[in-house]
Amino acid sequence: MTNLFPSPQWPTVPVKGETAAYPVHRIFCVGRNYAAHAAEMGVEVDREAPFYFTKSALMTQATGTTIPYPPGTENFHYEMELVIAIGAPVFKADTETAAKAIYGYACGLDMTRRDLQLAARAKQRPWDLGKDVEQSAVFAAITKAADFAAPGPQHIHLEVNGETRQKARLDDLIWKVEEIVSHLSHYYHLQPGDLIMTGTPAGVGAVVEGDVITGGIDGLDPIKLTIGAPE
Ligand code: MN
Repeated sequence: MTNLFPSPQWPTVPVKGETAAYPVHRIFCVGRNYAAHAAEMGVEVDREAPFYFTKSALMTQATGTTIPYPPGTENFHYEMELVIAIGAPVFKADTETAAKAIYGYACGLDMTRRDLQLAARAKQRPWDLGKDVEQSAVFAAITKAADFAAPGPQHIHLEVNGETRQKARLDDLIWKVEEIVSHLSHYYHLQPGDLIMTGTPAGVGAVVEGDVITGGIDGLDPIKLTIGAPE
Protein backbone atom coordinates (compact mmCIF):
# COMPACT_ATOMS: atom_id res chain seq x y z
CA MET A 1 0.00 0.00 0.00
CA THR A 2 1.25 3.48 -0.78
CA ASN A 3 1.31 6.30 1.75
CA LEU A 4 -0.98 9.32 1.55
CA PHE A 5 2.00 11.62 2.00
CA PRO A 6 5.75 11.09 2.25
CA SER A 7 6.88 9.55 5.54
CA PRO A 8 9.89 11.32 7.05
CA GLN A 9 13.19 9.44 7.15
CA TRP A 10 14.78 8.80 10.51
CA PRO A 11 17.19 11.66 11.22
CA THR A 12 20.80 10.58 11.45
CA VAL A 13 23.92 11.51 13.39
CA PRO A 14 27.39 11.00 11.87
CA VAL A 15 29.80 8.56 13.50
CA LYS A 16 33.53 9.27 13.63
CA GLY A 17 35.47 6.83 11.47
CA GLU A 18 32.35 5.51 9.69
CA THR A 19 30.90 6.44 6.32
CA ALA A 20 27.48 5.18 7.46
CA ALA A 21 25.44 7.34 9.82
CA TYR A 22 23.55 6.44 13.02
CA PRO A 23 19.76 6.66 12.51
CA VAL A 24 17.94 8.18 15.47
CA HIS A 25 14.82 6.28 16.56
CA ARG A 26 14.11 7.59 20.05
CA ILE A 27 15.54 10.28 22.31
CA PHE A 28 15.35 9.71 26.06
CA CYS A 29 16.47 12.45 28.44
CA VAL A 30 17.44 12.12 32.10
CA GLY A 31 16.23 14.85 34.43
CA ARG A 32 18.37 16.37 37.20
CA ASN A 33 21.46 14.22 36.97
CA TYR A 34 23.93 16.74 38.41
CA ALA A 35 23.33 17.81 42.03
CA ALA A 36 24.38 21.43 41.43
CA HIS A 37 21.90 21.76 38.54
CA ALA A 38 19.08 20.24 40.60
CA ALA A 39 19.85 22.80 43.30
CA GLU A 40 19.70 25.71 40.85
CA MET A 41 16.31 24.37 39.66
CA GLY A 42 15.12 24.49 43.28
CA VAL A 43 14.77 20.75 43.83
CA GLU A 44 16.55 18.25 46.00
CA VAL A 45 18.09 15.24 44.30
CA ASP A 46 17.62 11.78 45.64
CA ARG A 47 19.05 8.45 44.54
CA GLU A 48 15.63 6.83 44.56
CA ALA A 49 15.50 6.41 40.79
CA PRO A 50 16.36 8.44 37.72
CA PHE A 51 13.45 9.98 35.83
CA TYR A 52 13.03 10.69 32.15
CA PHE A 53 11.29 12.72 29.51
CA THR A 54 11.48 12.20 25.78
CA LYS A 55 11.92 14.18 22.61
CA SER A 56 10.69 13.02 19.23
CA ALA A 57 13.49 11.76 16.98
CA LEU A 58 12.26 14.32 14.45
CA MET A 59 13.51 17.10 16.80
CA THR A 60 17.07 16.06 15.90
CA GLN A 61 19.25 18.94 14.72
CA ALA A 62 22.81 18.80 13.41
CA THR A 63 25.66 20.62 15.11
CA GLY A 64 26.93 23.72 13.34
CA THR A 65 23.49 24.87 12.25
CA THR A 66 21.27 27.86 13.00
CA ILE A 67 17.78 27.36 14.45
CA PRO A 68 15.08 30.01 14.69
CA TYR A 69 14.29 31.30 18.18
CA PRO A 70 11.29 29.05 18.92
CA PRO A 71 7.71 30.25 19.31
CA GLY A 72 5.86 30.39 22.61
CA THR A 73 8.77 31.19 24.90
CA GLU A 74 10.58 34.15 26.37
CA ASN A 75 13.15 32.02 28.19
CA PHE A 76 14.88 29.64 25.76
CA HIS A 77 17.66 27.76 27.57
CA TYR A 78 20.70 25.71 26.61
CA GLU A 79 21.58 22.45 28.41
CA MET A 80 24.93 20.85 27.56
CA GLU A 81 24.85 17.05 27.90
CA LEU A 82 26.73 13.80 27.41
CA VAL A 83 24.73 11.62 25.01
CA ILE A 84 24.74 7.82 25.05
CA ALA A 85 24.12 6.01 21.74
CA ILE A 86 22.72 2.49 22.15
CA GLY A 87 24.26 -0.07 19.82
CA ALA A 88 22.63 -3.39 20.73
CA PRO A 89 19.24 -4.59 21.95
CA VAL A 90 19.12 -4.37 25.76
CA PHE A 91 16.18 -5.29 27.96
CA LYS A 92 16.00 -5.74 31.74
CA ALA A 93 19.79 -5.68 31.86
CA ASP A 94 22.18 -5.40 34.78
CA THR A 95 24.79 -2.66 34.63
CA GLU A 96 27.47 -4.94 33.21
CA THR A 97 25.26 -6.01 30.28
CA ALA A 98 24.01 -2.44 29.88
CA ALA A 99 27.56 -1.12 29.54
CA LYS A 100 28.21 -3.50 26.65
CA ALA A 101 25.17 -2.14 24.77
CA ILE A 102 26.65 1.37 24.60
CA TYR A 103 27.76 2.01 21.01
CA GLY A 104 29.25 5.42 21.61
CA TYR A 105 29.01 8.91 23.05
CA ALA A 106 28.38 12.40 21.71
CA CYS A 107 28.00 15.99 22.80
CA GLY A 108 24.37 17.09 22.82
CA LEU A 109 22.27 20.16 23.52
CA ASP A 110 18.86 19.74 25.16
CA MET A 111 17.35 23.10 24.16
CA THR A 112 14.45 23.97 26.46
CA ARG A 113 11.56 26.44 26.68
CA ARG A 114 12.29 26.90 30.39
CA ASP A 115 9.31 29.14 31.13
CA LEU A 116 6.92 26.51 29.75
CA GLN A 117 8.72 23.65 31.51
CA LEU A 118 8.58 25.41 34.88
CA ALA A 119 4.93 26.41 34.42
CA ALA A 120 4.05 22.80 33.62
CA ARG A 121 6.09 21.53 36.56
CA ALA A 122 4.31 23.92 38.95
CA LYS A 123 0.94 22.60 37.78
CA GLN A 124 2.10 18.97 37.77
CA ARG A 125 1.53 18.81 34.02
CA PRO A 126 3.73 17.08 31.43
CA TRP A 127 6.86 18.87 30.20
CA ASP A 128 6.31 18.33 26.47
CA LEU A 129 5.80 21.97 25.48
CA GLY A 130 8.95 22.89 27.36
CA LYS A 131 11.13 20.04 26.20
CA ASP A 132 9.81 18.45 22.99
CA VAL A 133 10.66 21.57 21.03
CA GLU A 134 11.23 21.52 17.27
CA GLN A 135 14.96 21.44 16.39
CA SER A 136 15.81 21.20 20.11
CA ALA A 137 17.83 17.96 20.19
CA VAL A 138 21.23 18.93 18.84
CA PHE A 139 23.89 16.28 18.38
CA ALA A 140 27.56 16.35 17.40
CA ALA A 141 29.19 13.30 15.79
CA ILE A 142 29.20 10.07 17.80
CA THR A 143 32.54 8.69 19.01
CA LYS A 144 32.55 4.92 19.42
CA ALA A 145 32.78 3.74 23.03
CA ALA A 146 36.04 1.92 22.28
CA ASP A 147 37.60 5.27 21.32
CA PHE A 148 36.49 7.07 24.48
CA ALA A 149 37.68 6.47 28.02
CA ALA A 150 34.95 5.51 30.49
CA PRO A 151 33.10 8.68 31.57
CA GLY A 152 34.99 10.05 34.58
CA PRO A 153 37.27 13.05 34.94
CA GLN A 154 36.50 14.49 31.49
CA HIS A 155 35.36 18.10 31.55
CA ILE A 156 31.96 19.01 30.16
CA HIS A 157 31.56 22.67 29.31
CA LEU A 158 29.42 25.17 27.43
CA GLU A 159 30.03 28.72 26.28
CA VAL A 160 27.72 31.43 24.95
CA ASN A 161 29.50 33.83 22.60
CA GLY A 162 32.79 32.47 23.96
CA GLU A 163 31.94 33.08 27.63
CA THR A 164 31.89 30.01 29.90
CA ARG A 165 28.44 29.23 31.34
CA GLN A 166 28.64 25.54 32.27
CA LYS A 167 31.68 23.64 33.52
CA ALA A 168 31.68 20.30 35.31
CA ARG A 169 33.12 16.80 35.09
CA LEU A 170 31.44 13.64 33.92
CA ASP A 171 32.06 12.01 37.28
CA ASP A 172 29.66 14.62 38.70
CA LEU A 173 26.87 12.57 37.06
CA ILE A 174 24.61 11.24 39.84
CA TRP A 175 23.49 8.28 37.69
CA LYS A 176 26.39 6.74 35.77
CA VAL A 177 25.92 5.80 32.15
CA GLU A 178 25.60 2.04 32.73
CA GLU A 179 23.15 2.68 35.59
CA ILE A 180 20.98 4.81 33.30
CA VAL A 181 20.98 2.24 30.49
CA SER A 182 20.26 -0.59 32.93
CA HIS A 183 17.42 1.30 34.65
CA LEU A 184 15.80 2.45 31.39
CA SER A 185 16.04 -1.07 29.98
CA HIS A 186 13.56 -2.19 32.63
CA TYR A 187 10.92 -0.01 30.95
CA TYR A 188 11.83 -0.17 27.26
CA HIS A 189 13.29 -2.63 24.80
CA LEU A 190 16.26 -0.39 24.04
CA GLN A 191 17.54 -0.76 20.48
CA PRO A 192 20.25 0.61 18.22
CA GLY A 193 19.08 4.09 17.29
CA ASP A 194 18.07 5.04 20.83
CA LEU A 195 19.90 8.07 22.19
CA ILE A 196 19.96 9.00 25.87
CA MET A 197 20.75 12.57 26.94
CA THR A 198 22.21 12.15 30.42
CA GLY A 199 21.34 15.50 32.00
CA THR A 200 23.00 18.88 32.28
CA PRO A 201 25.39 20.44 34.81
CA ALA A 202 24.68 23.68 36.68
CA GLY A 203 24.79 26.99 34.86
CA VAL A 204 21.82 26.71 32.52
CA GLY A 205 20.62 30.00 31.11
CA ALA A 206 18.79 31.85 28.39
CA VAL A 207 19.93 32.65 24.87
CA VAL A 208 18.66 35.25 22.45
CA GLU A 209 18.76 35.84 18.71
CA GLY A 210 22.33 36.04 17.48
CA ASP A 211 23.87 34.02 20.28
CA VAL A 212 26.39 31.32 19.40
CA ILE A 213 26.47 28.30 21.72
CA THR A 214 29.57 26.11 21.81
CA GLY A 215 30.21 23.13 24.01
CA GLY A 216 32.50 20.21 24.48
CA ILE A 217 33.45 17.14 26.42
CA ASP A 218 37.11 16.07 26.57
CA GLY A 219 37.64 13.33 23.97
CA LEU A 220 34.44 13.96 21.96
CA ASP A 221 33.69 16.14 18.95
CA PRO A 222 32.54 19.62 20.04
CA ILE A 223 29.08 21.04 19.40
CA LYS A 224 27.89 24.40 18.11
CA LEU A 225 24.49 26.02 17.63
CA THR A 226 23.49 29.52 16.52
CA ILE A 227 20.18 31.11 17.51
CA GLY A 228 18.48 32.85 14.62
CA ALA A 229 15.55 35.24 14.34
CA PRO A 230 12.10 34.08 15.42
CA GLU A 231 9.90 32.81 12.58
MN1 MN B 1 18.43 18.13 29.85
